[in-house]
Amino acid sequence: LEDQPISSEIDELARRLAGLRIGYAERVSLAPLTTFKIGGVARLLAKPVDTYETAEVVKAVKETNVNCIVLGAGSNLLIDDEGYPGLIVTTTAMNQIGFDERTVVCGSGVLLPELAEFVAERGISGMEEICDVPGTIGGGVYMNAGCSGVSLSDLIASVEWVTAKGEVAAKPRSNIKFGYRDSEFTKSDAIVTEITLRFTRSAAAETIRRRMAQVRAERAGKFPLHYPNCGSVFKRVDASCASEYIERDGTGAYSAGYYIERAGLKGARIGDAMVSEKHANFIVNLGEAKASDVRDLIELVKERVHEIFGVELEREVVYLGAKGRY
Ligand SMILES: Cc1cc2nc3c(=O)[nH]c(=O)nc-3n(C[C@H](O)[C@H](O)[C@H](O)COP(=O)(O)OP(=O)(O)OC[C@H]3O[C@@H](n4cnc5c(N)ncnc54)[C@H](O)[C@@H]3O)c2cc1C
Repeated sequence: LEDQPISSEIDELARRLAGLRIGYAERVSLAPLTTFKIGGVARLLAKPVDTYETAEVVKAVKETNVNCIVLGAGSNLLIDDEGYPGLIVTTTAMNQIGFDERTVVCGSGVLLPELAEFVAERGISGMEEICDVPGTIGGGVYMNAGCSGVSLSDLIASVEWVTAKGEVAAKPRSNIKFGYRDSEFTKSDAIVTEITLRFTRSAAAETIRRRMAQVRAERAGKFPLHYPNCGSVFKRVDASCASEYIERDGTGAYSAGYYIERAGLKGARIGDAMVSEKHANFIVNLGEAKASDVRDLIELVKERVHEIFGVELEREVVYLGAKGRY
């Protein structure tokens, strides 16, 4: 590919990261860093521990002309089999959590289940419904992750990030645009580094934990968690193109799985990628699935659902390839 970095630029970037004493590794296999267990090799991977180090990484990236992309827990990503020829910035080392009464400040690499445990232990209620979303809070801000009517945007007080120029920026929640599985960070080059959350309710830790256990059990009953997957493949459908089905069958017809199941696609398989028999909006990796198998299966599902119902399914899972996200 034309715009792949040449080796000397990558070597120069690696030298700069070493000089800055920022943790990095070369030629890292990305499949183990995703919940799908799919994806090739990243030429370079950096592990900044805070906003300052992230800004230093981004400045070094700019000066060396290498492409860069941020990775959280890899729970909403399908990475190409060819991997990524530039720098992956992983947020997993930005995992500090601090709190003061009902305000919690955390690094973007903190996992949502860990944060849910942290607040539960302190008698703070609010994260029960999203306690089982297996992503980082940074990835959650990017996507405005949510579940059962609760979205991260309901809990956020402010967000700090590093811009594509390596500058640090921050905004209060009131000035940040969030939508359904969408935020102003979606498709931007910002790296979210720190999030402040403000909670309004207290409860006994035991009560919060009981609800969290219930949420986990309900999801384990519905989702095919024994196979690698990326959660919901498609977003909830738009009411405008599905009104006929919503009127007839109720709110269930908002879910992409409603159409996939009725199209007879449960169990549809390409290579080792299969539409789950347990939950139609999940694609599972039966063992050796390639990214190309999953992409082909996604296209097949979209085409069939459109043919039968006239409904356009929109992908929730993010693709990552040599040229970045697509
Ligand atoms: C079993 C299972 C169940 C799931 N259930 C739900 C659910 O109920 N609700 C829901 O909303 N999602 C769900 N998901 C999807 C996923 O967990 C969320 O979308 C999560 O927010 C993704 O976070 P991540 O850290 O894994 O992001 P990644 O997958 O690592 O990245 C996703 C995107 O976010 C970007 N990104 C990551 N971190 C940052 C950052 N710090 N700054 C800027 N951009 C960043 C990446 O570049 C990429 O474009 C589920 C996934 C699985 C596997």
